[in-house]
Amino acid sequence: MVSFIRYPQDRGNAGMMLKWERFGSMKRFKKVYIEIINFCNLSCRFCPKTRRKPQRLTAESFQYILKEIKPFTDHICLHVKGEPLLHPEILDFLDLAYEEGVQVNITTNGVLIHTVGDEFLKRPAIRQISFSLHSFAEHEKENYLDNILAFAEEAIHKTRIIISLRLWNLHRSDTDSDAGNKMILEAIENKFSTQNKMEENIIPGQGFRIRERLYVNTDYAFEWPDLNCDYHSEKGFCHALRDHIAVLADGTVVPCCLDGEGMTSLGNIYQQNFDWIIHSKRAKRMVDGFTNHKAVEDLCMKCKYKERFEQTSHSPSGRMMCDGQPGWIP
Ligand code: SF4
Ligand code: SF4
Repeated sequence: MVSFIRYPQDRGNAGMMLKWERFGSMKRFKKVYIEIINFCNLSCRFCPKTRRKPQRLTAESFQYILKEIKPFTDHICLHVKGEPLLHPEILDFLDLAYEEGVQVNITTNGVLIHTVGDEFLKRPAIRQISFSLHSFAEHEKENYLDNILAFAEEAIHKTRIIISLRLWNLHRSDTDSDAGNKMILEAIENKFSTQNKMEENIIPGQGFRIRERLYVNTDYAFEWPDLNCDYHSEKGFCHALRDHIAVLADGTVVPCCLDGEGMTSLGNIYQQNFDWIIHSKRAKRMVDGFTNHKAVEDLCMKCKYKERFEQTSHSPSGRMMCDGQPGWIP
C-alpha cells in the first residue's frame, strides 16, 4: 500500500558554515555529477539541445576523473545531459566505481533498461536509479513503462538499490502532461497493488514511498537557465559547490548540473587538478556570493532554479534536482 510518507527536503541555508569546514574529516561534496555521454536517444521538448559536439568518456578518462574527485566525495551521479544507458561501457564504469569505493546514482529516461537491467542488478556500486518519466507521454515507446516497472520490482526485491520514479513536469494549471501523469501513476498503482490514489495526494516537491526503497517523486517543471532569457536576479542562494559539482564529457568542470553548456567553466579536469579547480578564485567567489545571498555569475543571475532554495516550509520544491537533476532520496 502507498504509505504517503513525506520525506524532508534539502533546503537552502545561506550563511551556514560550510560542511567541510565544520567537520574536518567529512568529504566536501555530497555528490559529483559525471557526464559520461552528452547525447541522448530522446529529444524532449523542454530539454535544451546542447551545442557541444557529441562526446563520451573512455574507460581511461572515467578512471582518471574518479581518482581526481575521490578525495572529495564518496558518491557520483552519471548524468548532466545525455543518456547514460547509451554508453557502451557503462557496466565497466560501474565496476571501476566499485573498485574505487564510490557509490553511483544513475539518472536515465529508462528507454534502454531492458538491455542492461539484469547486469545492473549484479552491480553493487549502484545506490540509486532515478527514472525520468516526464517525457513518457511525448514519446510513447513500446513497453516503455512496463520494462521500467518490471525492473523496479526486481531491483527492490533482489538488491539494495533505491528506485525513484520521477515526474518533474507538474504545471500550476492542468495540462496535457498532467493527464499523461495520471496514466503513469495509475500504472504504478496497478503494478504495486496500491489502494490509495497518488494523483489526489500529490504535493509538488515531495514524494510517495510505494515500497521499501521505491519512491515516486513529483515536482513542478523547471526552466533551464539561459543567458538570453528575460529572467534576471542577482539575489539568491544555491547549493552548488557546497553540496555538488559537475564534470562534463569533455572534462570541463562546472558548478552544477544545470550548466549543461559549460557557461561557468571553472577549469578542465584534464588540464588542472580538481583540488585546484574547486579552490580557484572563481569557485570561491561563487561560494562567497551565495553565502551572502548573491549570484555573482551571469548564468546564476539568469537561473530561476535558485528561487526554490529560498522557499519556506509551506512551499516544498527546494531540493537540488539532477541527480537531477533532481533527486536525493534519503
Ligand atoms: S530530458 Fe533527458 S531524456 Fe529528454 S532529451 Fe534531455 S537528457 Fe534526453
Ligand atoms: S544558481 Fe543555477 S546556474 Fe547557478 S550554480 Fe545554482 S543551479 Fe547552477
